[in-house]
Amino acid sequence: MLNIAIDGYVGSGKSTLAHALAKRLNLKVLDTGAIYRSITCFYQEKFGNLVSGDLVEEFVKDLEVKVEFKGENQIVFVNGKDYVNRIRQEEISVLTSELAPYISIRNKVLSVQRKFAKEYDCVIEGRDIGTVVLPKANFKFFITASEKTRAERRYCQIKDKQKVSLEQILQDLQIRDYNDTHRKIAPLVPAKDSIILDTTDLTLEQTVEKCLEIIKEK
Ligand code: C5P
Repeated sequence: MLNIAIDGYVGSGKSTLAHALAKRLNLKVLDTGAIYRSITCFYQEKFGNLVSGDLVEEFVKDLEVKVEFKGENQIVFVNGKDYVNRIRQEEISVLTSELAPYISIRNKVLSVQRKFAKEYDCVIEGRDIGTVVLPKANFKFFITASEKTRAERRYCQIKDKQKVSLEQILQDLQIRDYNDTHRKIAPLVPAKDSIILDTTDLTLEQTVEKCLEIIKEK
């Protein structure tokens, strides 16, 4: 099996890179952020925006997560429900980073991710893929870019779909980066053997070519 891990900060371009690499190398892609986001939508439906250890333990008792594909489109079912229309909302982004530190939630997602990596030659993108999910991945990329660039990229992605300002995006991004890098379990850090790419001054094509060069060299 060929497994490529891509980790990185909010708005670093992981997802776009993952899809571009998958197209060039004929691989499947798993967007793990979408799984955490879908779980969060279900949580919000049950408990609102209050996150506590007790509520999370009750929540995971009968939590069921399944990922299916319609062509290239990934569909996440959480207890049979698909939340695709809500997962990208800004309030879900921040709430997701509050739920993601809980080990019981991470363990649910871990098994889905590892099963996928066993079944398919694939690119898996997220925060802890190279460190925790696939420590033996064939290639590990850690993608970064300046905070300003990342906020602008995210703003461009969502400005036509959601009423949100660049300032709000920047603030949310800082909260999420803080939550993701400071949690005790599976924090966002580069794996020791990962290749770190700063994409601040790179176009998507340049980033893809760099990764392909590294893959071909091996
Ligand atoms: O990648 P995306 O921005 O969609 O991820 C949303 C949130 O899900 C992240 O901010 C992080 O809190 C959580 N996440 C995670 N581990 C992953 C993928 C996402 O904790 N592998």
